[in-house]
Amino acid sequence: MIQNTKANFLYDDITYLKGVGPKRGSALKQNGIETTRDLLLHLPRKYLDRTNIKPIKDFRIGDEGVVIGKVISFGIKKTKKTRFFQLIISDDTGILNCIWFNGISWISEKFKELDSVACHGKIEFYNGYKMVHPEFDILDGQDDPINTGRIIPLYSSNSLLKNLGLDSRGFRKIINNALEKSKEIIDYFDRDMLKESGLIELNHAIYQIHNPSDIESLRNATYRIKFDAHFFLQMVLNIKKIANKTLKSEKFIKSGDQTKLIYNSLNFTLTDAQIRVLKEIRSDFVSGSPMNRLIQGDVGSGKTIVALLAASIAIDNGFQVAFMAPTEILAEQHYNEINRVFSKTNITSELLIGRIKAKDKEALYSSISLGKTNLIIGTHALIQKDVIFNKLGLIIIDEQHRFGVDQRKLLIDKGSAPHVLAMTATPIPRTLAFTVHGDMEISIIDELPKNRIPIITKIMDPKKMNDVYNFIKKEIESGRQCFVVYPLIEESEKLDLKAAETEYKNISENIFPNLNIGFIHGKMKKETIDSQMKKFEKNIIQCMVSTTVIEVGINIPNASVMIIENADRFGLTQLHQLRGRIGRGIHQSYCILIPNKKTDLAIQRLKILRSTNDGFIIADEDLKIRGPGDFFGTKQHGYLKSKIINFAKDGKIIKHARNSAIDLLNLDPNLNNKKNKLIRDYLIENYKEMLTYINVN
Ligand code: ADP
Ligand code: MG
Repeated sequence: MIQNTKANFLYDDITYLKGVGPKRGSALKQNGIETTRDLLLHLPRKYLDRTNIKPIKDFRIGDEGVVIGKVISFGIKKTKKTRFFQLIISDDTGILNCIWFNGISWISEKFKELDSVACHGKIEFYNGYKMVHPEFDILDGQDDPINTGRIIPLYSSNSLLKNLGLDSRGFRKIINNALEKSKEIIDYFDRDMLKESGLIELNHAIYQIHNPSDIESLRNATYRIKFDAHFFLQMVLNIKKIANKTLKSEKFIKSGDQTKLIYNSLNFTLTDAQIRVLKEIRSDFVSGSPMNRLIQGDVGSGKTIVALLAASIAIDNGFQVAFMAPTEILAEQHYNEINRVFSKTNITSELLIGRIKAKDKEALYSSISLGKTNLIIGTHALIQKDVIFNKLGLIIIDEQHRFGVDQRKLLIDKGSAPHVLAMTATPIPRTLAFTVHGDMEISIIDELPKNRIPIITKIMDPKKMNDVYNFIKKEIESGRQCFVVYPLIEESEKLDLKAAETEYKNISENIFPNLNIGFIHGKMKKETIDSQMKKFEKNIIQCMVSTTVIEVGINIPNASVMIIENADRFGLTQLHQLRGRIGRGIHQSYCILIPNKKTDLAIQRLKILRSTNDGFIIADEDLKIRGPGDFFGTKQHGYLKSKIINFAKDGKIIKHARNSAIDLLNLDPNLNNKKNKLIRDYLIENYKEMLTYINVN
């Protein structure tokens, strides 16, 4: 984050900083702190101040908080059963007894009498106030946030560093040595920008984040540091976006006969959201530069028909369309849907998947290269070398998070700046979408077709499986079908698979011996999965036991029940995706979640799913609970490494940073203005790929 050529001290080897030396230096380096700059960016993990510290007497049992007191006594204690380390501290209002059962020998060397210590934990009561396994920090003698009003930063550390004296207190000392020169740090934002954006100066922010003079200054400093991190991400993404706009593409101006034919033969009316997105696509089509648009819409929101109408516009204008889906089942389903939707037109479409015979493939390749095939739908078989288009104008990518950046690029390179329309049903919280898909335009379908009956979701005790089976039986007797899903998690793959197999046997032999039960999992041959799915589609199989292979996009409108076993092991977003496989027809559908562990947290999470069918709300909750990792998929960047950024909480800052980046780029797209030189240098230094986008003279 901080960087400038003039403040060379920033790049000094950490070993040479006052108070460090070779031993600490090498330990710091092992922890990724190699230079003074790295140390200054080792930001506090939290702060002690008046607002989170309480006098002992004000605590009630069960309260969580921080107590600061002086060490009265400490030592290892033994009872008949166990050994523990006891520390007794007192403030002016009372006495607190801290106890550790683990790491006793390590901890017993830490304290001296009359040390000032901060202990963080939950207050219990047993012969007086007690904390078990509190987090603790030893403070400098005069560090008393309550009486001095000071705010004390606490730093992450580990046993290697702590053994060399680099606990919070040790870090405070060496960081303060580094801060002696912080005035030399030059801001890459000029004064006007700081003023307009209401940001404090960089050197001030760096100083204050380690030495806050009050809450207000700390807030401003934190804002500035986070702002910078988001700002540069947004610069990178928006520079890519601008670079895309400078490319020249074909314009699809005609709204042709085939499109009208399709539109008029729909047996439903499009939702307002679908119409809005179509308009957005049409304006991209006539803009002269390639569309790079992502449709985000919950499962069942009707993204496919929007994509197909876009496809027919491209075809009406004389171009070919490539439609890529992540699995063969899905590609085939789309192919059938395409044939149905296009049946009245003379559009030619073909399916290209791995298992097509070599001879047929040859014929297909030649028909594509001669331009006889208008639309080709397939899996990543589409990106193979042999597939050569005659006039590729539009690329459609379904479930785009399943594809890597490279795969997309290979397909795009088969045309000359083709338009790209991607779709995803993974609802991404809006602020996060700015980062994950920040280089694309985003269209949101936030409305389900009116004929949908909301799915009823229930949480059931695993002990009540008999009730669940009886319920399934009734549904199947009235003609419906059912999914039973097992999670399959990499670390415990074998066990999970076994559990699914056992359940399959149990259901098919003991529970429903008279029904046809299917079983599919990801380790099976594709043909086996496909043939079973076909039987399920035709209602030859009534109940499908599976692992998560059914997650993506398939459509079985007659399936009305989904049982999800060990539901607590899935992320909420994933559960929501699974649930989207039902509720697609005219029948009331039910999703039954069976948690394995009945912890409060597990149940509380599942209740979110029970309370809403809105993928965005669910995604927001998932972001809070699980962090952003799940949302990045194959578009993984270095973003997550940043300890400074918190995507769940930084929504406002992200918007601000994004607007500032866009404003700046509108005025100076190549960052040629002298006053933006440091920003430009920073980008080029830290995001090497930028060199290809910025015109460097
Ligand atoms: P998804 O967004 O999950 O990909 P699909 O595109 O598969 O959803 O649409 C789900 C179903 O809804 C399809 O059978 C489709 O024909 C139907 N559908 C799409 N749009 C509408 C609409 N406006 N009204 C009624 N049904 C619709
Ligand atoms: Mg779909």
